[in-house]
This record gives sequence, structure tokens and C-alpha cells, in this order.
Amino acid sequence: MKVEWGDRKSKALTPSSLRCLSYLPTVNLTTGCVHDCIYCYIRGYSQYPGQSAVRVYRNTAQLIARELDRKRNKPLAVYFSPSSDAFMPVKEVLDEAYQVMKLLLDRRIGIQFVTKGKVPEMFLELFAKQPELVAGQVGLCTLDDALNDVIEPNAALASDRLDTLWQLVRIGVTTSLRADPLIHGVTDHDDDLDRLFARVSACGIRHVSASYLFLRPAIVGSFKRNIADPDLLNRIFEPFEQARRSAICGSSSSALSLPAKVRETQLERVQHIAKQHGLTLNICGCKNEDLTSSKCHLTNLTVTAKAAKRPVDQATLW
Ligand code: SF4
Repeated sequence: MKVEWGDRKSKALTPSSLRCLSYLPTVNLTTGCVHDCIYCYIRGYSQYPGQSAVRVYRNTAQLIARELDRKRNKPLAVYFSPSSDAFMPVKEVLDEAYQVMKLLLDRRIGIQFVTKGKVPEMFLELFAKQPELVAGQVGLCTLDDALNDVIEPNAALASDRLDTLWQLVRIGVTTSLRADPLIHGVTDHDDDLDRLFARVSACGIRHVSASYLFLRPAIVGSFKRNIADPDLLNRIFEPFEQARRSAICGSSSSALSLPAKVRETQLERVQHIAKQHGLTLNICGCKNEDLTSSKCHLTNLTVTAKAAKRPVDQATLW
């Protein structure tokens, strides 16, 4: 892995154009992400540092402290991280993440995150002091580690992500599963989802967000470069033969997605399997604008607003 330090050219807390994130400031601790998920959209960014490479921003905690001091109203919460992962297995990133999260929690500002990593013990101890201020999603689409090794090569093992789910629930953090992106015909077989949802439910999870893979040129190139098995590649691309371009809500970009009817039918099936395990399924409306306006709970402001005794709409104050 290649780790280097870099300076920011803009503010540390930035808004996001994604509808789910529009109420919150977001922060990326790095450019790039060593989890190296082969479907990751950051591969198409001009500043993407390459596979297994990461540029860690210096002094993020100090910068955020200064930015917050200049604000009349503090945000309800800060979201980690739209284009990276705060819990990637890189000491420099974890140290920065810890400093920033501690700073926010010390100021009673909530933390919202999505991760495909294993949340280390020191963070669990930090969150356990104020679990009402923390909400997290753990991304996991399949328990098949051989498959995960191909599509998410440096993300945590499925068992470690399940352990993280369990630990977060245990300390009282509002936690859900993020099954995104499901790959039709590869990670969404009935048996596989049944096993995944059974394990997740046993961790005490009650909500799952799901969406299907969509393709952009950089992602197609990444799949072709990183998947040696032609049969697997064919199974991934085949359902996209009838695909069409669709907009990603709140973003200027579009992507190739499965036909609406296919997504609708498959998500109904996923919902049915989830329900059998006591899980409520939320479909990502940003990526399925043609199907639903529902939210995937990328963030969970209700919990943070309750802790802060502030209505959610005041979150726009930041
Ligand atoms: S963990 Fe998230 S940011 Fe990191 S490579 Fe995977 S999808 Fe991209």
C-alpha cells in the first residue's frame, strides 16, 4: 500500500450534492481508499491516486475545529466519508479519524458513517461514551469471502464486518446493514441473501439498505482489469445488455443501470427475504429515482436530532 500525506486546498467540511447527505457537512480524511472496491466510483475521479494508494490530509481535526469555531450554528452531525472510508486499515487514516471523531463528540456533534472496514476497539470505546450521537452503516453484500476478495479486495472479511455490526449494536449505536451494490446473478441468489440476512439479524440489526450495481466507464474498465475469470465477468455484465442510462439523484452524473422492471422485481425479492429475518429494507431513492423516493438512511439524523433536542430540519443550519 502506498500512503502519503497531503494538504487540503479547500475546506475540510464540505456539502454533498447527494440528496441523502444534503443536510450534513461531510468530510473525507483521504483522497483514495485502499479498500480498492472494483466498483467504486472514485476510480473515475481525476485526483484518484490509484489502486492501494491513499493521500491522507494533514491536520484535519485542527482545520475542522477552526471551521466550526467560525460557525454560528454547529451541525447536528458530520458524515464520514463520501469518497473514502474512515476505517480503512491504515494507521495514519485511523489516527486522523480518531482525532476528528473525538473532537466532534467532545462538542456534542454527531457522527454518521458508512464503512466496509472493521471498526477498531478504540473507536468502539469512544462511541460507547455517547452512542446516541453515532449512527453507522456497515457495507456487506455477501458472506462469500472468495468473491469479496475479487470485488472488495482489501475490505474487512465478512466475519469482521459482522463482528463490527454486533459490537456497534452492543454499545448502543444506531446501526444498519448496507447491501450496496448488489450484483444481479452474482451476489443476490436467494440462498446467499438468506444466509447474509440471517447472520445480520442475529447481530441485532433490524434495517438494511439496498441498491443494485450501476456502471460507468471507469467501473467497466476496473472490472475488466481486475476480474480474471471470464465467466464471472460475463455474469456481471450480461444483465446490463438491456441497461439504459439513468440519473443519480442530486448528482450531475448518470450511469448505466439495470432496467427499472428488473430492479423493481429483484428488490421486491430482496425485501421479501429480508422480511423473513425481521429486517426492514430501505431502497436507495437516489439511485432508483424511477422506482421510489424513499431514503436509504445513508444518514440517520433522527437519532442525532433526538439526542441534541433539535428538530431535524434545523440540520440545514450548518
Ligand atoms: S470502501 Fe467505499 S470508498 Fe473505499 S473503495 Fe470501497 S466503495 Fe470506494
